[in-house]
Amino acid sequence: MNHKITYCSRCLYNSEHPLNITFNKNQICSGCEIHEEKDTIDWNERFVKLKKIVNGYKQKNKLSYDCIVPISGGQDSFFIVDVVKKRLGLNPLLVSYNTHYNTLSGLRNLALIRTIFDCDMIQKIVQPQKIKRINLCTLKNLGSMYWHVLAGRTVFPVQVAVNLNIPLIIWGVHQGCDQVGMFSHYDEVEMTRKYRKEHDLMGFEAEDLINNFCDITEQDIDEFKYPSNFLISKVGVRGIYLSNYIRWDSKKQHEEMLKKYNYETVKQIRTADSYNNIDCMFYNGIHDYIKLKKCGYSKITDHVNREIRLKKLSREKGIEIVKEYQTQKTDDFEPFFIFNNISEKYFKKIIHKFINKKFWTLNNGKWQLKWEPNKNKKKNIIENARLNSKFDFNFINNKKIKKENNSPYLLHKSWIENEK
Ligand SMILES: [Zn+2]
Repeated sequence: MNHKITYCSRCLYNSEHPLNITFNKNQICSGCEIHEEKDTIDWNERFVKLKKIVNGYKQKNKLSYDCIVPISGGQDSFFIVDVVKKRLGLNPLLVSYNTHYNTLSGLRNLALIRTIFDCDMIQKIVQPQKIKRINLCTLKNLGSMYWHVLAGRTVFPVQVAVNLNIPLIIWGVHQGCDQVGMFSHYDEVEMTRKYRKEHDLMGFEAEDLINNFCDITEQDIDEFKYPSNFLISKVGVRGIYLSNYIRWDSKKQHEEMLKKYNYETVKQIRTADSYNNIDCMFYNGIHDYIKLKKCGYSKITDHVNREIRLKKLSREKGIEIVKEYQTQKTDDFEPFFIFNNISEKYFKKIIHKFINKKFWTLNNGKWQLKWEPNKNKKKNIIENARLNSKFDFNFINNKKIKKENNSPYLLHKSWIENEK
């Protein structure tokens, strides 16, 4: 079966990428091809275009919000709010979906962001019992413990837009464009319900969880329902992505923002990137463990590929880094099992169903990963795909504690208690 997998000659993605990836005759992936646009686009011109778009939404009344900006205590939130507030001069309403998977660093960063930018923020906290029921359902049927996070994050801003009559939503990076080149930057692709369903939600909207395969009730999924097309067009809701107008370089952006705002970065397991996803207790743990089982690659590959394409890392060094991180042991199983009231045995039995046998083989009762990015690759095909890179893969860890307070109480309550 293994011969069916193709690896990119430039980055390290394989043909099993869940967002769909294609390869040209030189086995360069669609993500790498579209990424080249970043070096040819006139980004100054694009920023002028962005200003023009948003100016149409500026409110005359300073008390009203000009737009909605979805944020978290991680990802590119500081950069996005900085652009929206400081460079575009907008008055945003910040909205945040509480994932229940909070880390203390993530909560502190979220508090910092709304304070330093002097912005109002709305947070959605769905009751934990619903989250647990949805988790059991999506874990069992989709092999995902992250469906509710993606569903909540992508729908809550749209609900607020409709309810408060704020038509413009400003997102950061478009993953389909940045990772796999699903769209060109020139397409200026905007938020759609279709993309959310097909890619963020693995084909299952909230309503699809009912009747299909779970004991989920209408009340459980009510908070995750996308507003009707009628309401969306009545308000004129649109969501734009900054990555179509700004040359997206997450690491560089973080380093600029860290100088300005000094928020927390944290050394994580299974990736060298200490900037992204530090707000989530499980993203680089159990979630990443499942991703590697299902897709044959993990988060460190996403992070390495991003830097290979930005010419900060060679493919060879990238391979070394992926090997070092991708199979590191996770340390967050226990709080996840306690929160969802499941046993390790039950969890492993479920995940077993989703193991991608193109990458994993059973050897003496143990699953072994076959990760062979150079298999069947002639040297010249890699040489021809090569970008001229300068090594720059060091991340700042301003918080020395590796991980703190992984306790289930934080999962239930979503707030900080007795912090010294
Ligand atoms: Zn590639």
